[in-house]
Amino acid sequence: MISELLNPWIRDLVPYSSARSEFSDRADILLDANESWEGGNDGVNRYPDPLLRELREEIEHVMGIPYDMSAIGNGSDEVIDMLIRMFCAPGRDSIMIERPTYGTYSVFAHTSNVAVVDVPLTADLDLDEEAIIKTIKEKKPKIVFICSPNNPTGKVYPLEKILRIAEVNDGITAVDEAYADFSEGFKSAIQTIKENPRIVVLRTFSKAYGKAGARLGILVSDPAVQKVFMKAKPPYNVSSLSEKAGLEALRDYESVRRRIEETIRRRKELSAFLRSLPYVSEVFPSEANFVLVRVSDAASLYSYLLEKGIVVRNRSSDPLLENTLRITIGSEAEMAELKEAMNGWNG
Ligand code: PMP
Repeated sequence: MISELLNPWIRDLVPYSSARSEFSDRADILLDANESWEGGNDGVNRYPDPLLRELREEIEHVMGIPYDMSAIGNGSDEVIDMLIRMFCAPGRDSIMIERPTYGTYSVFAHTSNVAVVDVPLTADLDLDEEAIIKTIKEKKPKIVFICSPNNPTGKVYPLEKILRIAEVNDGITAVDEAYADFSEGFKSAIQTIKENPRIVVLRTFSKAYGKAGARLGILVSDPAVQKVFMKAKPPYNVSSLSEKAGLEALRDYESVRRRIEETIRRRKELSAFLRSLPYVSEVFPSEANFVLVRVSDAASLYSYLLEKGIVVRNRSSDPLLENTLRITIGSEAEMAELKEAMNGWNG
C-alpha cells in the first residue's frame, strides 16, 4: 500500500552504497572510505554511521520508539523535505496544510514544485474537520501535514480528530509533534501507526531536548516508510558530533524532564502576567514552549522590545493572527527582563 503512494523513481531507487554501509563489523585498519587517518581525538576524521544505530537504539530505550520505526533527519526540516520528495511528484501533486501553521511545509513543497492546498483553521484556531475531509476528497493531496501542538498557536488538536482525518486520507498524514513534550497529558499519534501505516510522526531534539544546533529530527513511521527514507536520504545526513549531542541528551533525560517542568511552569506564569496587561486583548492557551499573545499594536510593541534588546516573533501577517506576537519561554532571568520591559510599555 505504501509502495503505491511513493514516487516510482524513489520506490525503485538503487541507493548509494557507502563504505560504512557495506562494512559494519569491527576492524583495526579502515582503508575503505578515503578518510584521513587522523584529525583530532573526537573521531571526526571518520564518516558517521549512515544508519545512526547508536542514537536510534537509545531513542528506543528512552522514548519507546521501536528501532525499525525511527529514522533521523538533519533536523525535522530535512524530514519534511524528504517526505515531500518521497511522495509528491513535482508539477503534479499537492500537500495540504492548515494555516496559520509552521512555515516550512509550504516552502519545501514549493522547492519541489509541489502545490500547497490550505484549509484555514476555524476562528477559534481549531482544525476545520469538515472542510479538511471535503478538500481531501476533492484535491487528493499526497501528504496532509498536521502540526500538534501547533506552531504558532500552541494548540493541541484532539487525537481522535486527527485519526478521523487520517482515516479518510488515502495519502500520508504527517503529524508534526515537535512540541509534544510540553503538552500535559499529550496523546501521541505514534501508537496509531500500527493500525494505519499511512500515518507518520515527526519529533525533534530542537525543543525539549535542548539540541537545536545539532539538527536532529526523528521520523517515526511504519518500517516500510522508514526503509525508503533510509535509502533516499543523503548517506551521511547527520554528523557524528550531532549524534553524540543527541545521545548526551537522551542519557541525561533527568535534565530534559526538569527543563520541561520549568518551561511549563514559566509558560503558565507568563500567560497569567500577559493577561494582567491593559494592552493585551488575548492570550492564547499554549501547550508548547511559547505563548501567542494579541496586543493593541504588535508592530510597535515588537520594535519597543527590540530597542530593549529583546526579540520576539511578530506573527501578525498570518491569517487570523492580526496584532499577535509569539514569545518563546526563556530562562528565569530572561522572563524577568521581558516582564519588566512589557510593564514599561504604554501601548
Ligand atoms: N516543526 C515545527 C512545528 C517547528 O516549529 C520547527 C522549528 N521551529 C520544526 C518542525 C523544525 O525543527 P528542527 O529544528 O527539528 O528542524
